[in-house]
Amino acid sequence: MEKSSYMDLVIAITYQCNSRCRMCNIWRKNLPGSIKADNYDKLPRDLSNINITGGEPFLRNDLEQVLAAIHKASPKAAIIISTNGFATDLIIKQVEKIKKIIPDLGVAISLDGIGNKHDEIRGVPGGFNKAMSTISALKKVGLKNLRLAFTLGDYNIDELAKVYNLSRELGIEMTLSAVHSSEKYFNASNAIEKKQEMAKALDWLIKRELKSYSVKRWLRAYFAFGLKEFILTGQRILPDYSGKYSLFMDPTGDIYPSDVSGQKIGDLRGGFNNLAPVFADEKPNWMICTARMAIRRHWPKFIFWFIKNNFLTVNYEDYFNK
Ligand code: SF4
Repeated sequence: MEKSSYMDLVIAITYQCNSRCRMCNIWRKNLPGSIKADNYDKLPRDLSNINITGGEPFLRNDLEQVLAAIHKASPKAAIIISTNGFATDLIIKQVEKIKKIIPDLGVAISLDGIGNKHDEIRGVPGGFNKAMSTISALKKVGLKNLRLAFTLGDYNIDELAKVYNLSRELGIEMTLSAVHSSEKYFNASNAIEKKQEMAKALDWLIKRELKSYSVKRWLRAYFAFGLKEFILTGQRILPDYSGKYSLFMDPTGDIYPSDVSGQKIGDLRGGFNNLAPVFADEKPNWMICTARMAIRRHWPKFIFWFIKNNFLTVNYEDYFNK
């Protein structure tokens, strides 16, 4: 195992997927992961956050072994599996086994709208009900670290408040992202046209999160603010440390600064200590995997923003009820 300064790692462990999402073409690749479970023990020891993604990670039959190797390699890392939540029985079976190895395992279930809207976006009839069944079954087996993951696009701006409210009703957190383009990863180009509408919806969310008494939710508000600024200006509010403090690894072990980058900087075989420098013209992005470390390193900016914005009186209360 190697030592490195990288803190956050997103690992796509398969490109097989049982969803048909409109903003992503990974499912068309239908490629299983080619890294054997044992080989994941070559990950750096000092990672702090690992997001297991795909494709659909739960389609890997050896997921338990993959997670065991990852946990052994980087035992202090918080591990979250991102799933579309469609294969309820399979997910529950796997989570019950993995929880014995990683008791604080987290699961994030994608939800881009309510009912048919989610089904349309994900291209899976009954997808919303399947995801809801999975959430309820995960709660029943005692998974505490459970969250919804909402991806914002031109097509579901009105759903943001609905899914957020659902997350509050369910008593679980909602994480946020916006569609990005990535030729290498999800083979899709996702333009955003309705920038002002998105900004307004994000303002509504920011206001709600700031009203809470949770630092975690204030940080989510700040992340949402960064997303709004990125959508409006194409610029990040904080520097991008991808390739330095956060990385993406694909199912073949190739390593990139992030999942929207097309610049391969190394691979699992070569290890994490000899990665190529990141090109200066990397595409800007604002995703939690690349924002988390930036927020951590520039926390006074967050504090300043929080003080300034927590006392704003802009009223978006009725935005979605008009
Ligand atoms: S966004 Fe996720 S669930 Fe949807 S097709 Fe791509 S990998 Fe599958």
